[in-house]
Amino acid sequence: MSDKSRNIKNVVKFHLCCSCGLCSNYCRHHAITYRINALGFYEPIIDDKKCINCGICLKSCPGINDLKDYTNKESRYFYGYSTDDEMHLNASSGGIVTELLCYLISNKIVDYVTCVTTRTGEQLPMQIVTNDIEIIKECRTSKYCPVQWKGIIEKIEQVEGSIAIVALPCQINSLKNYFKKRKVSKKIKFFFSLMCNHMPSLKAAEYIVKGYNKKAVLKKVINRGGGFPGYMTYEIQDSGGSVCFRTPFRKIWAAGYGRYFKNRRCILCNDPFAKSADATFGDSYFLQNTDKKGTTFCIVRNLKVTDILMAMQKGRCIELQEGPDEKAIRKTYEVLFDREMTFLQKNKCLQILHQKTIVPINSFVKLDFRYACHFYKDMFIAQLGKYQWLWPYLSEKNKLMNLIIINKNERSQNHSRNRL
Ligand SMILES: Cc1cc2nc3c(=O)[nH]c(=O)nc-3n(C[C@H](O)[C@H](O)[C@H](O)COP(=O)(O)OP(=O)(O)OC[C@H]3O[C@@H](n4cnc5c(N)ncnc54)[C@H](O)[C@@H]3O)c2cc1C
Ligand code: SF4
Ligand code: SF4
Ligand code: SF4
Repeated sequence: MSDKSRNIKNVVKFHLCCSCGLCSNYCRHHAITYRINALGFYEPIIDDKKCINCGICLKSCPGINDLKDYTNKESRYFYGYSTDDEMHLNASSGGIVTELLCYLISNKIVDYVTCVTTRTGEQLPMQIVTNDIEIIKECRTSKYCPVQWKGIIEKIEQVEGSIAIVALPCQINSLKNYFKKRKVSKKIKFFFSLMCNHMPSLKAAEYIVKGYNKKAVLKKVINRGGGFPGYMTYEIQDSGGSVCFRTPFRKIWAAGYGRYFKNRRCILCNDPFAKSADATFGDSYFLQNTDKKGTTFCIVRNLKVTDILMAMQKGRCIELQEGPDEKAIRKTYEVLFDREMTFLQKNKCLQILHQKTIVPINSFVKLDFRYACHFYKDMFIAQLGKYQWLWPYLSEKNKLMNLIIINKNERSQNHSRNRL
């Protein structure tokens, strides 16, 4: 297929795929399959014989489509946990997401929900559509790796009634984009998201297991549970049979999940809070060491969801409090806000330079000196391709200054030569 191809081939080629696993669902010609690549991420493969170049997969691919709606919707903040002690201890944070999904089904607010199961026997977890409370409960906890979305849109289209979807921010944006002009959009009652810093690779779990026993074969991972911040539990097969071991969640994150095994595309992600979701859920790190069991932080942008959470609290299935204040939120989720701000500020710089911007930036974004410096440094480095041999010297400030001067001199010499 030529470079004019309107499928997602170039997204993969230029490392912009965030392994969302959705494009095969969008292709009605069955031209997209996946393989797990050497880095442990989903990688789409296009069958050129089947692809008719319709462009549908590309239009909804979150790897290259930035969030269009960048307005700040009015939000209310809550934090809380399940009153079922077992759920409270063994969900990811406080079990609010699982309780919410169960409540929606039990009270017939929706007919189906999506959740992610590890029951398949495969190492890759799978997104499913269900109305079975026991299965929803079993699907609790975050899956810190790529997730299969095999045939999920077909299933959503097939089931009768309404549905609530739980997904990562990039997947929410992609699904919303795809559903927009399709009949099925009427079925989707709620989009819920999980805050997301990055998606770790499948290799992260293998790396931890090999550290435990080089010959062990990984069977299953249970992410989180066992209080807050909890543990990662690994079920492995070694010479002694089936064994389980666990590592503290924070320690393994520092040992590689966060640093070495993140999807490179996630570094460019500009929507860690899923701004277009009806509600987004995360860990309540602002409670610091006072919280031993776990608490879910909830950002709610839809009044109906606020009412549902209030009714759940009244019915005593969850404990809920409003807060914390904006200052505590900014401080706790600084890394995520910083990602969003970097994106907005880079666009602001482009706007000032009368260059093409990815999203229109309103006057609410004031240019911050820190980000402006980063922007110009990045621009400068990007221009330095031809001086690559000098890069090792750039760490010393004065040498960088020298280079700028050399660069200027060179330009003025060229300029005068041209005039001669
Ligand atoms: C890849 C990833 C990165 C995250 N990064 C952060 C972060 O940086 N900061 C932060 O505060 N929170 C982060 N979270 C969210 C956090 O881990 C919890 O999921 C959230 O606090 C909800 O907790 P809970 O106890 O209420 O959820 P639970 O009651 O345990 O329910 C979680 C629900 O989410 C579904 N689910 C799990 N994994 C996935 C997945 N990969 N895709 C779609 N659905 C899924 C489950 O099926 C279940 O229904 C991340 C989650 C994921 C999956
Ligand atoms: S980001 Fe998602 S839609 Fe885009 S190529 Fe990757 S798997 Fe496909
Ligand atoms: S361009 Fe159309 S036919 Fe080709 S892979 Fe994408 S969705 Fe399928
Ligand atoms: S960081 Fe962004 S792009 Fe990466 S998995 Fe999370 S939501 Fe998707």
